[in-house]
Amino acid sequence: ALRGGGAGAPRAASGAAAAQLRLRLESELEDIRGAGTWKSERVIASRQGPHLRLAGGGAGIINFCANNYLGLSSHPEVIRAAVEALEKFGAGLSSVRFICGTQSIHKDLEEKIARFHQREDAILYASCFDANAGIFEALLTPEDAVLSDELNHASIIDGIRLCKANKYRYKHMDMQDLEAKLKEVQKHRLRLVATDGAFSMDGDIAPLREICQLAQKYDALVFIDECHATGFLGPSGRGTDELLGVMDKVTIINSTLGKALGGAAGGYTTGPKPLIDLLRQRSRPYLFSNSLPPAVVGCASKALDLLMESNAIAQSMAAKTQRFRSKMAAAGFTISGKDHPICPVMLGDARLASVMAEDMLNRGIYVIGFSYPVVPKGKARIRVQISAVHSDEDIDRCVEAFTEVGRKHGALS
Ligand code: PLP
Repeated sequence: ALRGGGAGAPRAASGAAAAQLRLRLESELEDIRGAGTWKSERVIASRQGPHLRLAGGGAGIINFCANNYLGLSSHPEVIRAAVEALEKFGAGLSSVRFICGTQSIHKDLEEKIARFHQREDAILYASCFDANAGIFEALLTPEDAVLSDELNHASIIDGIRLCKANKYRYKHMDMQDLEAKLKEVQKHRLRLVATDGAFSMDGDIAPLREICQLAQKYDALVFIDECHATGFLGPSGRGTDELLGVMDKVTIINSTLGKALGGAAGGYTTGPKPLIDLLRQRSRPYLFSNSLPPAVVGCASKALDLLMESNAIAQSMAAKTQRFRSKMAAAGFTISGKDHPICPVMLGDARLASVMAEDMLNRGIYVIGFSYPVVPKGKARIRVQISAVHSDEDIDRCVEAFTEVGRKHGALS
């Protein structure tokens, strides 16, 4: 008889098709290992934060690879807000939004997000990946055109794949190429330029002023993905559009609640009210996926409160970024990008990036090496991400470790 409770040993599905599938999967996995692109996951046994304990030992590790830009992932007020929301509103909605999955806290958070970005309205998703997957298909038809930076995030690329608009890809931040493509798309009904506000592999910031000027000249809309900007770029942390003075020129913003804004999960679109209304009717990841859990809503809502009260946290992160970038440059390293807490230490060689990252961990500094196919061949790097909750001492220890490890492996003379 079947009994509830204890889990039995895993059962392998029987049959020739299952056996064939297993063989094919094993061979594919072997190919990934052989190509040197296998991604392994380090297991963390503590909260997310500047100092971590890894499962199986490793305590006191200084963490430089989270998108926890403002250190809010483990902020006591953010955690308290999550617990209160959990207790008052329960674990989850067991529903999508339009059936019985909308609580007052979802509406409050949407209103707060729109206010933060100074937009008319906002809509929540389970992730920004979902927000990007939903928007293009809902907004664009075969009569329209979308122009996308070639280095846009995978979720923008996938979202664009799902829509039926005419697709154009312009060279990374190349305004001449964008202009040429904008001339080409004049024949279409509606034109949408889509770009990351800040690019996560290089820490570079899209030239939004120029993009908006071109968009105006060629009658196009501008969409930005602000996952690596919301909460900390610009004088009051509104993002790239605030930093570059084009808040009134960018029509649509997608961003995440899973990085600077508390780090739990969730994403959103904010922009004109009729667009948000349309997304509630048409956007498939919104219509056919569960509502954000109350605890997650509580985290993000409190993170936004903290940011709207003061920009001290964002300023502290900017000062730490400046400290790291200038000390690393003085030590002889090349750091890509400018003024962004994503600080890619450019090394070129994939093996060098990988052994240096390992050696950094031996010295208690957790950083990750990136190589092809995540970044172009010959442009391997170690990506360092600065957080407001790193102390000056953490930053200095990181620079010292880089200097030792760089000398040891010949990256510094
Ligand atoms: N867009 C960009 C630029 C990102 O870096 C990410 C996450 O890595 C996403 C979208 C997806 O965000 P989320 O984790 O909320 O799905």
